[in-house]
Amino acid sequence: MTIGLNRKLLFAIVSLLLLLADALFVLINYRTDRAALDAALADDGEQLKEAYELGYSMTLANMEQLATFVAGDPRVRETFSDAVDAVAAEGGGGGGKQAAELRQELYQSVASGWQQMTREYGVRQLHFHLGPGSTSFLRVHRPDKFGDNMDDLRHMVVDVNSDHKPRQGLELGRIYSGLRGIVPVFDLHEPPRQVGALEVGTSFSLLVDTLKQSVDADVAVLMNQARVDHATWQRPDDAVLADCGCFVEASTSPALSQLLSAEGYIQAPLKLSDPVRSHLVWIDGAPLSVAEFAIQDYLGIRDGSDLPVGRVVFWRSAEDLVTALKQATWQNILYAVIGFILIEAALFIGLRFVFRQLELEVDHRTEEIRQLNSRLEVIAHEDYLTGVCTRRYFTERLGQECNRAERGSSPLALLMLDVDHFKRINDTYGHPAGDVVLSSLGELLRANCRNYDLAGRFGGEEFCLLMPGVMPGDAFNFAEKLRQRINRSIQIPGQEGEYISVSIGVALFQPGIGYQELIRAADEALYEAKGQGRNRVILAASSAIAV
Ligand code: GH3
Ligand code: MG
Ligand code: MG
Repeated sequence: MTIGLNRKLLFAIVSLLLLLADALFVLINYRTDRAALDAALADDGEQLKEAYELGYSMTLANMEQLATFVAGDPRVRETFSDAVDAVAAEGGGGGGKQAAELRQELYQSVASGWQQMTREYGVRQLHFHLGPGSTSFLRVHRPDKFGDNMDDLRHMVVDVNSDHKPRQGLELGRIYSGLRGIVPVFDLHEPPRQVGALEVGTSFSLLVDTLKQSVDADVAVLMNQARVDHATWQRPDDAVLADCGCFVEASTSPALSQLLSAEGYIQAPLKLSDPVRSHLVWIDGAPLSVAEFAIQDYLGIRDGSDLPVGRVVFWRSAEDLVTALKQATWQNILYAVIGFILIEAALFIGLRFVFRQLELEVDHRTEEIRQLNSRLEVIAHEDYLTGVCTRRYFTERLGQECNRAERGSSPLALLMLDVDHFKRINDTYGHPAGDVVLSSLGELLRANCRNYDLAGRFGGEEFCLLMPGVMPGDAFNFAEKLRQRINRSIQIPGQEGEYISVSIGVALFQPGIGYQELIRAADEALYEAKGQGRNRVILAASSAIAV
């Protein structure tokens, strides 16, 4: 019962531990898989950044190359040189009539090339600047606007006009920011004189569209409000300002606004030194992988500014990655469940077997203990020398038998037996000889009593015999036969023909008397037997009536 209970308890505890281990297994695996997913996102982010940087630098290189190509045309050089002189002669700014004619001539000389550039390279600006600083002479993309001074805005032009070296880079613009290549334009004199600068520029739209095709992800370029505000350019009122404090410069998808306002989207500003920020964003239950990094413009790079001009955002569906993670997690749960069931089954069978063995062992031990106990009980109740029961046990049983005789009105006889002149045996033949006599007497009593009789040692050489259910007359007769048998068979050791004799007092149970009275009656009868000369049986006076 207790073992069964313990088995169930052990099983429950081990099952619980197993369950915990299973949960831990699933959790650890999930965390590992999740970390792998994050690492994959980070790798992907780095690759997207590389793709961006390649596209960006190629765009700038293209712009500079186109500018170099146009600025190298002798007709352009000569016309622009003449124009510069005309403007100087006509009072600066946009110049006068002659400058206007030369502007028109210059326009004609690049018009066909401009068409091709817009078609094939997405060029949006072809702009001749006068130096020093930056004064517009001819916007091929907008010929009607010229003569405006942009010293504070077009830093690349100012720098090219100052040191005559080509530049390429990103500049914030009023309507859009430009990816520009700017080269000095020299006249045809020897040595050549720098007459101004030629700018070829494009917007981000072409770059983001190209990137989208090559990396299969949506792309957007966002400009920091702080930097835009800082620039003298002011964005038009309808420019889109996102929660991150960014203007949308270019985007391949209108879903950008949803992404920028999504709960998981990280609005915190990005630093130029930050690694690519790759993370998952959920929109309407669909996962998107997002990779972002900060970018800098020409001015920021030139002045060593920490404040980035904006950021590039790549995003695409991460359904595959998340589905793979979910599948891996479910697979782990399945493994955990199968493992749990298998181990549980093995545990159940194992515990059953072990506890069955244990139960058998316990049963076996219990039986051994039971046998040992009954043996101990016998030893505890048995007189060592004679093998009959002790006085204490005899008296206990006598009390019980008296009660039973009282209740059942059944007969009960008590024989009290004492060796005659035993002291003399001891004195004459030694104490060991006396012991042998007592031992033989005990053996004889045990051999001659019935199964339900009880023999006990009452004192040194004094014995009792309790005989339940014996008829009054039979008790006396039995006592007499016993006396004779003793007198015939128990010999003093080493003394051929010398037998001991015993005196016996017999008392019969009378209803209403206790066991003490029964003992007293038997004792008195024994005393009487001794008094009458020993080696005889005397029936107690109180029992005489019953005979
Ligand atoms: P009576 O006929 O009147 O019974 O005389 P008795 O000598 O038998 O009786 P008494 O009471 O004078 O002596 C009993 C002796 O039994 C005294 C004691 O030393 C001896 N005795 C008691 N127990 C043992 C025992 O275990 N072994 C031996 N050898 N002697 C014992
Ligand atoms: Mg005696
Ligand atoms: Mg005696």
